[in-house]
Amino acid sequence: MAKKKYAIGVDMGASFTKIGLVDENGNISNETELSTTDYKTPKNFVDALALQVQLIAGIAPGEVSGVGIGAPNANYHSGAINNSANLPWKEYFPLRDMLMEAIDMPVKITNDAKAAAQGELLFGKAKGMKDFILLTLGTGVGSGIVSNGQLVYGHDGMAGELGHIIAKPNGRPCGCGRKGCLETYASATGILNTAQKIMMANGLIPFQTSREITEAAMIGNPMALEVFNQTGKVLGKVLAHVHTVLSPEAIIFFGGLANARDFLLVPTRKAFEEELLFVYKEDKPELMISGLQHKNAAILGAAAMVI
Ligand SMILES: [Zn+2]
Repeated sequence: MAKKKYAIGVDMGASFTKIGLVDENGNISNETELSTTDYKTPKNFVDALALQVQLIAGIAPGEVSGVGIGAPNANYHSGAINNSANLPWKEYFPLRDMLMEAIDMPVKITNDAKAAAQGELLFGKAKGMKDFILLTLGTGVGSGIVSNGQLVYGHDGMAGELGHIIAKPNGRPCGCGRKGCLETYASATGILNTAQKIMMANGLIPFQTSREITEAAMIGNPMALEVFNQTGKVLGKVLAHVHTVLSPEAIIFFGGLANARDFLLVPTRKAFEEELLFVYKEDKPELMISGLQHKNAAILGAAAMVI
């Protein structure tokens, strides 16, 4: 019997970097983590990461084909990270090449949303799909687009910034310097802003976290339900426009806000279907929650690039 194949997946985040050994069936083992903020320079960080990767590779029960890394602002083509708002180091650094040199194994990197899409394709609900969009609804809104079976990178590796499609002209100010981006409505921060507006207008103390909004919706709180209705309206409309470009088979939601499940899905689907161009109405795509929502999807996705 042929030995199982393995890859090492790395989920690099602002606070913690998680590392795990992934087999070809999507099982994670030997998980460990580094505190990303403990390292003064990218070089210090890469040295520590290299050590952990070598330790895990050393105890793997089969061949390790390489290391995949999902990281904020990582560029698949250049292998570098540049000016990530969320990482402790603002300078440009060629993470892929630095790690490859240290460990002498193949390394691939991409941004976290694209890694999540890879994970969904190999191990989640998108198994067997050729055209789908994975939308990460977290602190920001990111996306990984798979078209004709391939992840879309664009000529510079930056394709798929769906979070910065303008949802409302002259709307809320966005971190990118423009106004009305989808991210300012459909991220965790965006939904809190919506909640604040609705609650203050009703003389109520606003929710403090997006999780609180979901919990309130679960017990039928009308304000919380209204927050999801408004959020779904904005999100569904933007996705209907995105659909005209890509005509995906499914749009999959992942991340903190996706935990709201039907509270978010139902109003989003309603707005989506209302706005959808008539030619697509016969064979509408499915809107669904990720199959990897409660697994360590970022590690799986990163490993999926090299397995
Ligand atoms: Zn923006």
